[in-house]
Amino acid sequence: MFNQQLTTGREYPAPLVDSHCHLADPEFDADRDQVIARARKAGVKYLLVIGTGPSYREIGAALTVAEQNEGVYAAGGIHPHDAGHFSGAALSELRQFARSPKCLALGEIGLDYHYQNSLRKIQEEILIQQLELAREVTLPVIIHCRDAWPAFRAIIKEHWRSSALRGILHCFSGSLEDAFDLIDCGFMVSFAGNLTFKNAGGLRETAKQIPVERLLTETDSPYLAPVPYRGKRNEPAFVSEVAGQLALLHGLSNEEMAAQLLGNFRDFFGIHETPPREGT
Ligand SMILES: [Zn+2]
Ligand SMILES: [Zn+2]
Repeated sequence: MFNQQLTTGREYPAPLVDSHCHLADPEFDADRDQVIARARKAGVKYLLVIGTGPSYREIGAALTVAEQNEGVYAAGGIHPHDAGHFSGAALSELRQFARSPKCLALGEIGLDYHYQNSLRKIQEEILIQQLELAREVTLPVIIHCRDAWPAFRAIIKEHWRSSALRGILHCFSGSLEDAFDLIDCGFMVSFAGNLTFKNAGGLRETAKQIPVERLLTETDSPYLAPVPYRGKRNEPAFVSEVAGQLALLHGLSNEEMAAQLLGNFRDFFGIHETPPREGT
C-alpha cells in the first residue's frame, strides 16, 4: 500500500507544469494512459511531450500523444545525439509537424559535447538548420546543451537573436553567466530532477539566482527521476519535487511558486484558458 502511494507522486496544493517529458517513448508504451492519469492526480495541468529520434516515426509520435489528450502539447526536433543521421526529408517532415495546433516548439535541438554521439561540426550545422526552420515557422525552440555553452552562445548570437523569437534551456546545467547571457537573448531556464540530487549544490545556487519569471519545471521523463524516486523510471507526476525545490530556494510557498511557474508557461506559449460559456 505504502509503496503504491510512493510511486504515484505527491498531491500538490496547486497546478503544476511538466515542460519536458518523453511520454511518447517506448518506456511508456505499456502504461501511458495511467502515467497521464497519475500526472493529473498529482495536479499536473500541462505537459509538453518531446519527440526526438533518428527518424520522423519517433518524432511524430509526440504529436499523437498530444492530440489524444487535453492539456498535452508537443515539440519535435533532431536531438544532437542523432545529428549524424539527419536527412533533408526529416526537415520537411518537421515543417509539417510544426503546422499542428498542438505543436508549441521545435526541439529538443542543441549541442552535446559531453557524449558527443555525433561530430561537433555536424551537431552545429544541424542546430543552425533547425534554428532557421524555427524562424521560418515562427516557433520558439527547446534547447539541449551539455558541455557546449561557449559554442552554443555564439550560435545563438549569430543565428537566432535577431529573430526576436524565444527559447527554453531544458534541464539547465550551465553556469550563472551562461544563464544570464541567454536570458538576455529571451530564454527561459527549465530545471529538472537533478536539481534535487545530493551533489547538485552548485546547480541549486544557480537556480536561486534566476529571476522567478524566467523559471520553468520539467521531468525529462523517463530520465533523471528526482529524489526520493531517484533510480526509478521518471514520470510527470514527480515534477512536484522540482517545483517544491524551486519554492524552497526562492523562499516562496509551494502555492506561490506553482502559480508563478504556471503563469510563466502560459505566457511563454500564449496559452489562454477559454472561460466556460455562460447560459445556453
Ligand atoms: Zn535533453
Ligand atoms: Zn529530453
